Amino acid sequence: MIGKNEKSHAMSDKSAPDFKNKFHECNDRFHSIFNLTSAASKIIDGDLTILKVNPALTELLGYTAEEVEGTKIMDYACKEYKNYWHQLQEAMWQKGQPFFKLDACIIKKDKSLAWVHVTTILFKEDDVSYGFTILDDYTYRVNFDESEKRLNMALQYSKMAVWELNFEKNLFIYSEGFDQIFGYQIPLNDWNKETLLNQFMTEDKKRLRDLLSGVKNDLNLDFQGMVKTPDGSIKWVHLQGRTEKGADGKPERILGTIYDITKEKLAERHKDDFISIASHELKTPITALKASLQLLNKIKQSPNEKLPGLIEQANKSMIKVSVLVEDLLNVSKMNEGQFQLKKTWFNVLKVIEDCCPHVNADGLFNIITAGSAETEVFADAERIQRVLINFVNNAMKYASDSRDIHITVQKIDNNVKVSVIDYGRGIPTEKIPYLFDRYYRADLNGGQYSGLGLGLYISAEIIKKHHGEIGVNSEVGKGSEFWFTLPL
Ligand code: ADP
Repeated sequence: MIGKNEKSHAMSDKSAPDFKNKFHECNDRFHSIFNLTSAASKIIDGDLTILKVNPALTELLGYTAEEVEGTKIMDYACKEYKNYWHQLQEAMWQKGQPFFKLDACIIKKDKSLAWVHVTTILFKEDDVSYGFTILDDYTYRVNFDESEKRLNMALQYSKMAVWELNFEKNLFIYSEGFDQIFGYQIPLNDWNKETLLNQFMTEDKKRLRDLLSGVKNDLNLDFQGMVKTPDGSIKWVHLQGRTEKGADGKPERILGTIYDITKEKLAERHKDDFISIASHELKTPITALKASLQLLNKIKQSPNEKLPGLIEQANKSMIKVSVLVEDLLNVSKMNEGQFQLKKTWFNVLKVIEDCCPHVNADGLFNIITAGSAETEVFADAERIQRVLINFVNNAMKYASDSRDIHITVQKIDNNVKVSVIDYGRGIPTEKIPYLFDRYYRADLNGGQYSGLGLGLYISAEIIKKHHGEIGVNSEVGKGSEFWFTLPL
């Protein structure tokens, strides 16, 4: 049965001298099926030596028949399958099991892997036992499963899912993660066109319904809408899709993607809010500056006693504008990672004393400094001063009723700790974790204080860059201590 190509281990084996004759007797029908079938097949002897392989198997393995015949299939098996495969072989050859089946992985000539369903059947010819094996290649299935898994993971990471609506059959198919996009932790299971539409808020539902009714013609769907989730929160989703035509040339179904754009929408809103706050914040000092300049213009020919006051007013407004602009520039520099420190050795107490002449000058507040006079640090003096100014300005702004502001310097282990303490209204505990976030303002709804919510964020970035720590201790009604440390 084995046929012409009998260069094999078994052939050269003197213990089986007559197999050649036996296989020459093989019937032609089997021979041609063996050679023509697309199922990779081989014939082995009791030694497990491959006597004969068909072209489908050589194609699968990438070796020629000459290379394979005379070897053992176990030589090609992936390590983790060898043991089990061997046990099955033994059960068949030694314990007389008529056949065995297993799924295994084999290594091809090009070192790539092939996944096969193996079926080996024992048969006898002239009292000699042989094994006939079919290796059914299902690598495509493994690869398909893998790529499907990868695709599903990628879709989930990108908060995206794919869907298909067959509007003729009202059939709705979707990938993993579709339910979660709509906020369902337990899958909804009965998705169809109506359930999809029902997720959207009234106006958006109407818009989407109108768009989907256009499916009868060619449609390029691009829709963003607001969804009310089962827990009552609002989400935004983006649906995109295209119609596909059936065999009759008419649009049959729509294939598309859906992704959660809540974050982007919130960021967009945040940005809009921020632009309007920033414009408002800039407008106030600019209006004051404009008024001072107009008055100065009026009296330029005959200056009177109002002149110094007007110049001072104009200067104050100018300082406010430049502080705001500087904050905005700092934030964008930090975002772009172009934020470099200019470090020098300096005395911490000296920087504190120099930081806030504007405070004592007004006479409304009183800065009291205490701490070790000789503490020197290696840091960016200008930026550390910026942090101090932020803390002190906040103390004046948010603790305006309390006159005294204490600044202390302490050496703790290998760090220096600087604290700015006020005796104002303090900050509620639940707001403290957010204080150093960008744009965060604890009194956003109070609206009585001006600001962009950037001062503490910028301060935290500066201290982080110095490998120090920043924090706050505060008690409502008692006051706040804003502090930072720098390594010595
Ligand atoms: P801005 O002052 O521009 O709002 P900051 O980043 O400097 O921004 O401060 C963030 C928020 O922290 C402020 O809006 C305010 O609510 C709160 N805050 C800061 N310092 C104090 C303080 N000393 N006392 C009470 N609240 C403060």
